[in-house]
Amino acid sequence: MSEVRVRIAPSPSGNLHVGTARTALFNYLFAKKNNGKFVLRIEDTDAERTSQEYIDNIFDSLKALGLNWDEGPDVGGPYGPYTQSQRFDIYPKYAQKLLDSGFAYECFCTPEELEAEKELATQNKQAYVYSKKCENLTEAEKEKLRAEGRKPAIRFNIAKAQKAFHETSMLKFDDLVKGELHMDTDLLGDFVIMKSNGTPTYNFAVVIDDMLMKISHVIRGEDHISNTFKQILIFEALGAEVPRFGHLGMILAPDRSKLSKRHGATAVSEFVEKGYLTDALINFVALLGWSPSDGQEIKTVDEIAQDFRINEISSSNSIFEYDKLNWMNSHYIKMLPIEELKEKLKPYLTKYNLNELTDAQYTRMVEITREPLTLLSDITDAVPYFFGESVEVEPEVQSEVLDTEISQNVLKEFVKQAKDWDFDEENLHEKLEAFRGQFKEQGIKPKVTMWAIRAAVTGRTRGADMTAILAILGKDKVLKRIESAIKQTV
Ligand code: GLU
Repeated sequence: MSEVRVRIAPSPSGNLHVGTARTALFNYLFAKKNNGKFVLRIEDTDAERTSQEYIDNIFDSLKALGLNWDEGPDVGGPYGPYTQSQRFDIYPKYAQKLLDSGFAYECFCTPEELEAEKELATQNKQAYVYSKKCENLTEAEKEKLRAEGRKPAIRFNIAKAQKAFHETSMLKFDDLVKGELHMDTDLLGDFVIMKSNGTPTYNFAVVIDDMLMKISHVIRGEDHISNTFKQILIFEALGAEVPRFGHLGMILAPDRSKLSKRHGATAVSEFVEKGYLTDALINFVALLGWSPSDGQEIKTVDEIAQDFRINEISSSNSIFEYDKLNWMNSHYIKMLPIEELKEKLKPYLTKYNLNELTDAQYTRMVEITREPLTLLSDITDAVPYFFGESVEVEPEVQSEVLDTEISQNVLKEFVKQAKDWDFDEENLHEKLEAFRGQFKEQGIKPKVTMWAIRAAVTGRTRGADMTAILAILGKDKVLKRIESAIKQTV
């Protein structure tokens, strides 16, 4: 087999969508598995919908996911440029080739004329295909139209291609994922390949680029299947080798509708901002269509690459289960080496003064608070009581815990005893055990004793390991907070 060359070809009309990330991943895995090349091409022929911000977002998101490309706009490669807007001088040559060989013709119809044709089709309850009115214009007729100032578009001549390469209008191809697919190409109509303003349409630019970039396999979403039939005909008309195609099922929201913003995040960068780890995201995205042969779903990209077979991809749609992604993310947070986690949490701790903690204290804080985190961003609300002198007490905690006589007694006794304690964690552990024991003898449950201390020190009734919290805060802060809890109540 000649070299495997695949590509991801996003249009920068938005931030990189998770669906595109999955397509990129499957292409990347396929290249890895086959010692091939993974190419990034930016499809920005639609200048109005393109922006540099989206191009940057595509680059950053793919990089964050570890989907590094071998050739692309920034790294170059033998078949560049890899940005379509920089290839505008290439497409007309190939359009001319198709005009010369009769597989394309100039169309001078105005938008109004085309609209009228469409209108008529609607009235007759017929699917619209172009009437081919311009197919057989003579040179003289074309000259006349040109003289009127009309600029022609160029249309592909489907019937001509059918006749030259196929016996019937039924076109078939063997899809890598879905098996044999076929379509009656009469339904396609003679589509435009070059617009009257001289720019190529998507279907034409893609074929020229895939041909010149020597793409061997095109793996993309099934929403492109009807385009694939058009593209096969163009490849054939140009005398080019037709790549193999593989179409992935759609990604649907849990309610089975198209995944959209109303369901939650859809762009990779949005997920990252919300506090998803890219390793979790890529692992989750891989499972949208691919299943590991050993049933073990938690896998690194390298492990997935070893097990990846394109023909085993499910051809049906996948459901984007946010709950499952959340579960995976919490798992990845638990597994992350502590130093990495400390770094990754920092952007979510900017409202606190991290300098209040030594590195050892910060490490300990992260160790004892990581367990319940689903998102990295959950850390923000989990740790306010590690910072500042005083603490904000939730109203119910005040009335239901701190204002009780039992709590007040516990706190007063705590201040008395703890003044002489050494606040290292091991020692505190012993001291607190004995302290709880004393109150237990008076019939007060150990958890009630601890609630009082926790409420006074953290303002909450639940949270991370209390002994560790006391050790991190240190004697001064702890006693201050407890004293203030005593003073505030009557
Ligand atoms: N630019 C197209 C898109 O973003 C890519 C289509 C293709 O992969 O051929 O949908």
